[in-house]
Amino acid sequence: MDIKLQQVGYAYAKDTPFEKRALVDVNLHIPSGSYHAIIGHTGSGKSTLLQHLNALLKPSEGTVIIGDLAIQAGKKVKNLKPVRQKIGIVFQFPEHQLFDETVLKDIMFGPLNFGVSKEEAEKRARVLVEQLGLPEDVLHKSPFDLSGGQMRRVAIAGVLAMEPSVLVLDEPTAGLDPRGRLEIMDLFHKLHVDKGLTTILVTHSMEDAARYADRVAIMHEGQCVLSGDPIDIFGNEERLAEFRLAAPRVVRFQREFEALLGYPLPKLCVTEEQ
Ligand code: ADP
Repeated sequence: MDIKLQQVGYAYAKDTPFEKRALVDVNLHIPSGSYHAIIGHTGSGKSTLLQHLNALLKPSEGTVIIGDLAIQAGKKVKNLKPVRQKIGIVFQFPEHQLFDETVLKDIMFGPLNFGVSKEEAEKRARVLVEQLGLPEDVLHKSPFDLSGGQMRRVAIAGVLAMEPSVLVLDEPTAGLDPRGRLEIMDLFHKLHVDKGLTTILVTHSMEDAARYADRVAIMHEGQCVLSGDPIDIFGNEERLAEFRLAAPRVVRFQREFEALLGYPLPKLCVTEEQ
């Protein structure tokens, strides 16, 4: 499912004295099956943008195209249900949205609401618990008796249980320790590769973007100022500095490696572990 933003603008409290333009003329193409990172400082418009990706917000100007559905400024859309099902959003601190008595019920909640049978919803929950590296006995526990890392995995399982084709991740590692961060990011990468999930990672971590994404977009003051291949975007340190951003360390390591080799590499292939 391709996603396109065409000249998208968004203003909070539009036509009031408190109007705040949060997106300005944003053009972005997220091809089906890509891993796209959206980077920018706090206040640059990342959260506003991601809320357009499943029509939680509708554009004040321009058009958002999600698969074959066009959401145009000022026009009503009849049925947003298919979009809401196909685009899964893992919000920041998703564990805050857990609510049910047991992990099993919590994971099954979304699919049951969308008309999936009880048997199928339960099957999905069991498979996901295993895929996300959780012990089987968590299924009948209260989500509130789990560790922070386990709660986050349960919340992610709840989003995946809807079987989305696009996964939007809003700072998914916020508040985790370095090991937890790596485990969660590797998990999303595996899901992207194994299930062909289009993945959109909203982050302020240039390192995560360089490590995982195959496309990068930089937001600055509501505009998408740069987008393209990570090696091109991160390789242009002068341009990044204009937006008060520094190239990730992995890119600097790669530059040193290329200097030793005597020729440039076509893509980012140096990792911090090397
Ligand atoms: P980011 O996710 O990059 O931190 P946001 O999309 O949250 O950026 O915010 C973009 C701009 O919109 C900021 O100037 C922010 O203060 C403003 N903003 C965000 N949410 C609201 C809101 N509900 N009402 C008014 N202004 C908002």
